[in-house]
Amino acid sequence: MSTGIGWDSHRFAAGRLLILGGVTIPHDRGLDGHSDADVLTHAVIDALLGAAGLGDIGQHFPDTDERYRDADSIALLRSVVATLEGHGWAIEHVDTTVVMERPKLGAHRDAIRASLAAGLAVGPDRVNIKATTGEGMGFIGREEGVAALAVATLRRG
Ligand code: MG
Repeated sequence: MSTGIGWDSHRFAAGRLLILGGVTIPHDRGLDGHSDADVLTHAVIDALLGAAGLGDIGQHFPDTDERYRDADSIALLRSVVATLEGHGWAIEHVDTTVVMERPKLGAHRDAIRASLAAGLAVGPDRVNIKATTGEGMGFIGREEGVAALAVATLRRG
């Protein structure tokens, strides 16, 4: 067994979509970034790469590479899962936390779980989605951006 952590944050911006775990969440703003800025999926990718000892998302998908402009992060996740399988790893569990003041995620939690599980090619019972706020503090509380954390547990397949 091996574990890895992932953390990411992205800034809110007008005229962008808010995509979390591959699900577009209705909101008056979205997240800025080179790819689709899916902060949750990026945290999951880093947790997986960490557990496998394979570096980080920036090494695999550089934001200087035009191939990844507006990239679908779930497609990047699928690519990482294939890489892990190539190294003999299977996904035991992925736990996540989204830290965001607004909007509330409750109504979208099941859809995000299903979307991430599909991207990971595991059942939804192996994925957990948690959400919390910044209690009005810091960049989260000021609604300047969103952060996400993930922990991945892998086993030798
Ligand atoms: Mg990111």
